[in-house]
Parts: sequence; structure tokens; C-alpha cells
Amino acid sequence: MHDLAIVGAGPVGATLALALADADLDVVVLDARAKGESLRGDRTLALSHGARLIFERLGVWGELSAAPGAVTPITAIDISQAGGFGTARLTAVENDLPALGYVVSYRALQAALDAAMVRTGVEVRHGKEVAAVGGTPAYAAIECAGDNGPPIHARLAAVADGTGAAVAGVPRRRHDYGQVAVVAKLWRTRPHDGVAFERFTPDGPLALLPQGDHYGLIWTAAPGRAEALLALDDATFLAQLERHFGPRVRGFTRVEARRAFPLALEYATATVGSRCVVLGNAAQTLHPVAGQGFNVGLRDAYELAQAIVDAPRDALGEPRMLARHARGRRTDRWAGIAFTHGLVNLFGNDLALFRWPRGLALTLLDALPPAKRAFTRAMLFGMR
Ligand SMILES: Cc1cc2nc3c(=O)[nH]c(=O)nc-3n(C[C@H](O)[C@H](O)[C@H](O)COP(=O)(O)OP(=O)(O)OC[C@H]3O[C@@H](n4cnc5c(N)ncnc54)[C@H](O)[C@@H]3O)c2cc1C
Repeated sequence: MHDLAIVGAGPVGATLALALADADLDVVVLDARAKGESLRGDRTLALSHGARLIFERLGVWGELSAAPGAVTPITAIDISQAGGFGTARLTAVENDLPALGYVVSYRALQAALDAAMVRTGVEVRHGKEVAAVGGTPAYAAIECAGDNGPPIHARLAAVADGTGAAVAGVPRRRHDYGQVAVVAKLWRTRPHDGVAFERFTPDGPLALLPQGDHYGLIWTAAPGRAEALLALDDATFLAQLERHFGPRVRGFTRVEARRAFPLALEYATATVGSRCVVLGNAAQTLHPVAGQGFNVGLRDAYELAQAIVDAPRDALGEPRMLARHARGRRTDRWAGIAFTHGLVNLFGNDLALFRWPRGLALTLLDALPPAKRAFTRAMLFGMR
């Protein structure tokens, strides 16, 4: 029997595996991907400064940041609302940090994590699609699609499959925002200087993340509008974007790789079950506003690794150990869910009634250094 089976070697599952690489434990990682493959299509990920610290400790950051253009530091975040007063600007300098966060490509990060798992001798079984995670109170039993042999047994199964679909019996809730994110690569006449923009518009939040020589665009819109945006020729799309963004950012010259995905909040109402724990997107899939989801998932992995290392081997996966871990993660996880959901509801609507309090909130945030520092700290390191 293995000590731990990790289902999914995406960024979150791989982080858990690497954080345990030096522990004296028998760990097996199962992923449906073929070796060397990444998920289809790339994604722009926003990593907080806290996420960088995690990757530094795991020995992944050096290789990742050495690749030209792979990591782009965010030096400032400019927050504003369309059709109302109030702006806030968070900067790395006023927080004595090299950067507020970093923009990386999902593919580049996955490649660096895969290489680190090979280097540190983590046992990853590729091409293993987990069909079910079940078991008894004494162990987890993991069945892979197409395997005729006996299930894989482990004291604990950690499910980081991105959806939680592999595990039965973990209740989930879903809130559909009725919105779609249109994402694209975007170029401007001027260099971005590391400045990210978050603009709240009547259609929903609009974000520009500096990445390499361009911006990653996230434009939330109603499904019909998103479909129309995807169908526009490049010049008309850029003209509509400039109009939508308003005077804060101008001079868009080129757009590439437009695509869209639906937005929903989905979360497990309990992250632990019998001999099993869910983490990362499998535990909570958040709206991309404020770039919180991935960072909460990384902290899930890092803190689970610490709980595992702290537990005696024969207590691994026992209800008390799992309950302690779930309690430890509760505040940060719910704060991430509530913060993201609250921002979408307060800032992502078209009610004129909300414009004044929104403007006031942004003005106060900008004018009150302690509030600004507390807000920035929560964005960078999460809530404990
Ligand atoms: C469409 C989409 C677009 C996104 N865009 C952005 C964005 O622009 N910016 C941003 O910051 N975040 C974005 N996110 C969120 C971000 O991708 C996640 O926060 C991050 O990928 C979570 O990592 P994870 O390891 O939990 O899950 P994933 O990245 O989904 O990894 C899951 C892993 O599990 C494996 N797996 C899946 N099912 C099984 C199975 N049954 N058996 C075995 N292995 C399995 C997969 O092969 C994969 O390697 C997006 C998410 C989605 C779904």
C-alpha cells in the first residue's frame, strides 16, 4: 500500500508531490496526460508573490524564470471602474517587494514542474485516467480506466484533477455567473512596464495582464456578446476594446488567439472525505477576477504537504488528521471564494446605485495606507 496517491499532476498536484519529494514516504502520482503533454491550449496564470516563494522553496522558480519571457513581474495594478469615480493603484515599491505578482504561461509552468518531478525522482504514472476514488475506512482505492488489475491502494488519496470528477461522495455547489471570459493576446504601441489593469465595467470585469512583449486580456461579457466579440475581425475587435476600456489604456495594435470559456463558481462543500482530500481547482474553481483561484490552490497543496509531513505515517489519512487540515485551510479558502464572489457582485453589475459606493471603496483603498497594505497582503499571501 502507498502512503499517498495524488490524482492529477497539474500545477497543484505536482506542487504537492514536489513538496513531499524529500519526505520518507511512498508517493505515487497518476495523471491522464501522456508524458510531456500539457492541457490543450495555453492559459495565462497570475501568480502571487506568495506563490513565487512556494516555487522557490521547491527549486522550480530558478529554471522557470530563466527561460526568456516565461515570467513577467507585475510592478503595479491599476484598478478603476467605467462610468464612475474612484481609482486605486497598488505598487510593489510601496510594499517593499520585487513584484506584486508574476504572469506565467500554464505550459511553461507545467513543463518546469514536470522536469522538477523527474529530477527529484517523483513516481509519476502518465496516461492513467482515474475513473473512481473510493475505498474503506482503512485505505483509499483508486481505479484507473482500462486497468484490469486490482485498484491502487493508499493511506490517503489527494485529488487534484481540476474538477473533482474522479471522486464520488464529495458534495459540490455551482453558481453560474451567466458570463463568459473572452481571452486573447494583445499588443499596444507602448511597452506595458509591468502594469496590470483591472477595470470594472457594466459587462463585468476587464483585465490586462502584462506578459512578455504583450498583454493577456480577460474580457468578461454575456454569452451572446462574447460570441459576437469572437466573430469580429481584428480591427473591429480592437476598436470595440478601446471604447470599452475607456481613456485609461489606449493604442491597441494587434490581437491574437481569441477564445472564450464560461465562468462559474464551483466548490466542494467539504474538502475531505473518507481517506480522501480534494485540492486546487477540484476543491474550488473561482471567477478569474483578481487572479485568486490558482494561488488558493497552490496554498492548498503546500499546506497539505505540511500536514502530511507532521502526521505520523500510520495516522495519514485518518479522520482526525484530515479534519485538522480542513480546519487549517478554512479561512483562506472561504476568504478567496467570498472575496472573488463579492467583487463580481459589487463591481460586476450595471446598477448605477452601486457606482457611488464602488467609487468610495476605491478612493478609500487608495487613500488609506493601512487599508491598502492589508488588502495587498491578502491578495499576495492569502488569509489565515
Ligand atoms: C478554461 C479555463 C481557463 C482558465 N484560465 C485562467 C486564466 O486565464 N488565468 C488564471 O490564473 N487561471 C485560469 N484558469 C484557472 C487555472 O487554470 C487553475 O487555477 C489551475 O489550472 C488549477 O490547477 P490544478 O492543478 O488544480 O488543475 P488543472 O490545471 O486542471 O490540472 C489537473 C490535472 O489533472 C489531470 N487529470 C484530470 N482528470 C484526471 C483523471 N480523471 N485522472 C487522472 N488525471 C486527471 C489533468 O491531466 C491535469 O494534469 C483557467 C481554468 C480553466 C478551466
